[in-house]
Amino acid sequence: MDYKDRLTSIQNRIAQACGRSGRRPEEVTVVAVTKYIGIQETRALLATGIQDLGENRIQVALPKVKEIKDSARWHFIGSLQTNKVKDVLPHFHLIHSLDRLSLAKEMQKQAEKLDCTASCLIQVNISGEQTKSGLAPDEVPSFLKEIAGMDRVQVQGLMTMAPITDDPEEARPVFRGLRELRDQLRPEYPDISHLSMGMSGDFEVAVEEGATLVRLGSVLVKP
Ligand SMILES: *Cc1c(COP(=O)(O)O)cnc(C)c1O
Repeated sequence: MDYKDRLTSIQNRIAQACGRSGRRPEEVTVVAVTKYIGIQETRALLATGIQDLGENRIQVALPKVKEIKDSARWHFIGSLQTNKVKDVLPHFHLIHSLDRLSLAKEMQKQAEKLDCTASCLIQVNISGEQTKSGLAPDEVPSFLKEIAGMDRVQVQGLMTMAPITDDPEEARPVFRGLRELRDQLRPEYPDISHLSMGMSGDFEVAVEEGATLVRLGSVLVKP
């Protein structure tokens, strides 16, 4: 199957999940995760009409990002070291992994220097797994207060990673938890709208639970 066929099949599955949950397919953006592929394949992927690309490691991403530049909106989806913020900010449209105060401070500082804004999502550890990064859900309100004065840091939503399991239904409570957290925050923080959740194995469940950004790697690009 080529990328276009795979994308069409994914879009159909998203449309069906939207149908089951009373949502519109336009509310869901596919972020194609290109960490498994090189520059040529990434170009082929863009030819399908995909506009949003995701990478989780800056060293792997930079050659592709510099080559492809503005032909795509780049999403930084991996955990971000503070000393890499200056490399990420100039190239990435949205950072999905804001998970600590020191990172927000560095984003503010570098965004001031570059005279840009740092658009980001707060990563939340809904499942509570020790191995997962992200703030605990009950830490998010105080975190938002702490960064409220950072005018360059714009929080546009929340992101979570579900446990890796064979049964996507096991991820449902995690996705639902992220949506409920967003809905609790929204009266006070109307800009917090995006939910980045769902990967190849569980994106339909994530869409049913309200995902606005699904991060798809293997289902789309793995040979
Ligand atoms: C690799 C990766 C994905 C995509 O995973 P697939 O299961 O291949 O779709 C999504 N999110 C993050 C943070 C990743 O690192």
